[in-house]
Amino acid sequence: MMIDLALIPDQPKAALSGATSPDTAHPNLVRPDTAHPNLVRPDTAHPDMAHPDLAWRDALLAAAAAAAQQLRGRLTADAALATTSWFGVGGTADLLFRPVDREDLQLFLQLLPPQVPLTILGATSNVLLRDGGIRGAVIRLGRDFAKIDVAADDATAIQAGAAALDVAVAGFAAGLGLTGLAFLIGIPGSVGGAVAMNAGAFGGETKDFLSSVVLMDRQGHISTASPQSLNMSYRQAELPAGHIVIAATFQAQIGDEATIRERMKQIKQERDQSQPTRSKTGGSTFKNPPAAATAHLPPNLKKAWQLIDAAGCRGLRRGAAMVSDKHCNFLVNLGGSTAREIEQLGEDVRQSVLEKFALTLEWEIKRLGEVAMPVTTDQPVTTGQPVTIGQRGI
Ligand SMILES: Cc1cc2nc3c(=O)[nH]c(=O)nc-3n(C[C@H](O)[C@H](O)[C@H](O)COP(=O)(O)OP(=O)(O)OC[C@H]3O[C@@H](n4cnc5c(N)ncnc54)[C@H](O)[C@@H]3O)c2cc1C
Repeated sequence: MMIDLALIPDQPKAALSGATSPDTAHPNLVRPDTAHPNLVRPDTAHPDMAHPDLAWRDALLAAAAAAAQQLRGRLTADAALATTSWFGVGGTADLLFRPVDREDLQLFLQLLPPQVPLTILGATSNVLLRDGGIRGAVIRLGRDFAKIDVAADDATAIQAGAAALDVAVAGFAAGLGLTGLAFLIGIPGSVGGAVAMNAGAFGGETKDFLSSVVLMDRQGHISTASPQSLNMSYRQAELPAGHIVIAATFQAQIGDEATIRERMKQIKQERDQSQPTRSKTGGSTFKNPPAAATAHLPPNLKKAWQLIDAAGCRGLRRGAAMVSDKHCNFLVNLGGSTAREIEQLGEDVRQSVLEKFALTLEWEIKRLGEVAMPVTTDQPVTTGQPVTIGQRGI
């Protein structure tokens, strides 16, 4: 498919011209997605922001087109990320690739120069994609990576591709009467994100049920890692640099399907009651502080949401970004917010907690990409509702 630059509004055409001429354009390259209101084009970004050097992209596209074995996945230049992100914000990725399968991903990685930054996105339920976009290549795994099956040699082991949704894994396990993975029903991410973040809820943590993880490195080599080797702990895993999770095996136990389904129903109900699950959000914004950091505080001031609440931040707003009044460790985009506003609101919250409790909250949400412009909406931050302690936290 040819790229018609005249069809692309406000594009850095100088960067695209030349190697993306019809004869070198990769057939799978699509023109940028429809622009989102928060979209920040590299050429309209803050004047201090260096214009990205995209020669690598032109070279990669030319090499891909020339390669005997073509890339089969979809390549999108200047891909808008906001429309598909949970928060509904974010700029563009220089190049977005959606590999069809492992071989396709391997070929792409072999074509990608080692110095080009690589970002992997899952379901985007724990990331804040900044307005200035993501430089380099972004990968989102396609459907072939979303398969779920039972291991050939163990009827209680579930093998899931990294793009499989956690809820699908929970449902699959329940359908086989396998217990242990019900907690995944409440986590709106993918298996890759669950491993990278050691996602957990309702007493279950990913690391406790993982038996192995399949990784691909920057050269496209595949290896298998044990969860122990990834040093997984509260909301983090130490993945080797540049490695992509492509699959994982979960160890469940034989249970009773009706009981498991009932448990999953309870978890969903509790979630919907205590979290803004239907809002544009990014899940828990901050990690709960380590026990030592709150040892001097009373029992009702141990979790991040409790500290945020007691610091008076529930309902706090900056532009269209708000501290959820349902669960105040969640930030929500009320509609039309920018990543900058959301991030600034998060920093406002951290500052309030620091001032009140001399304690610094650590971001759980991964903030990815470039800051575009300083906050332009200088609306005063409005204070939230009165402090109420007693909300259920995770
Ligand atoms: C309403 C709501 C409720 C939530 N509740 C919970 C909860 O109860 N418990 C909990 O733990 N979390 C919760 N979250 C947060 C989020 O769902 C989890 O952190 C989830 O595991 C993120 O998965 P993801 O696929 O969306 O990853 P993303 O948000 O896309 O990415 C998160 C990080 O993982 C990395 N990553 C993603 N995929 C891969 C891969 N294949 N290989 C390597 N790295 C990868 C990304 O680079 C990024 O650093 C909630 C979020 C929302 C919106």
